[in-house]
Amino acid sequence: MSNLPPNRHPFEVEAFVLKHYDYNEHDRIVVLYSRKFGVLRSIAKGVRRPRSKLAGRLDLLRCNHLVLERGRNLHKITQCDALRSFSGLNRDYHALTHALAMGELIASFSQEEDPNEYLFALFLHGLEALSAGTEALPLLLWFELHYLEQLGYQQDWDFCAQCEIDFRPRDYHFFDTLHGGLRCEACKRKETCRYLSFEQVEVLRGLQASEGPPQSLPELKPQAMRQLQACLQSYFEQLAEKPLKALTYLQDDNLGWAMPNETRKP
Ligand SMILES: [Zn+2]
Repeated sequence: MSNLPPNRHPFEVEAFVLKHYDYNEHDRIVVLYSRKFGVLRSIAKGVRRPRSKLAGRLDLLRCNHLVLERGRNLHKITQCDALRSFSGLNRDYHALTHALAMGELIASFSQEEDPNEYLFALFLHGLEALSAGTEALPLLLWFELHYLEQLGYQQDWDFCAQCEIDFRPRDYHFFDTLHGGLRCEACKRKETCRYLSFEQVEVLRGLQASEGPPQSLPELKPQAMRQLQACLQSYFEQLAEKPLKALTYLQDDNLGWAMPNETRKP
């Protein structure tokens, strides 16, 4: 049963711009993520004409109040007012690449008319924190762990997902990029499991337990943080059954990232 109004009727939403691409001569297809209805595929007619009243209002990741007209395949955007523009992202390319990665994850696993109030708020808090200058990679990991929970793949870092033995501090842990979760030395599979140090697992535990964006930097070397991100990316790509471009892109971007902040290139 659709919660959307009948065809051609207007409705209002609060929504992020997840993706957009040009269509016909003057139009643009805009994929929105709304609080009330989840993903909405929409069209901004005439937006590429110089004097369109929608021009400049449908930039990526912006959160808007919109009026749409229900369509069969695409909803027509008739009005758009900015609610939040996360201006810090325009000044920090590193933060922007991580914000785009979060947007790609939402677009990859969310459906039309599949709203998730918690996920909407998680995305909002993530973008606000990135825009305010929170260190991007720990924040992305925090977002990913909580997003996995929402998708029904909550990770448990305390025991082996196969034999269920409790881990002790000196045990070796291996992240299973195929099924998620940790495996012990005896249960690891060479092809799909990646070694994680006890300190790395501690960081994952801490980020998963943190309800809000992380306030302090994890005590891990940048390379160890990048390994964690690579593990989660592989797992997300398994779940999505496709490569995730924005996540792959930021692997290179993160090579310039070092902890603490001062050594990062501007
Ligand atoms: Zn085991």
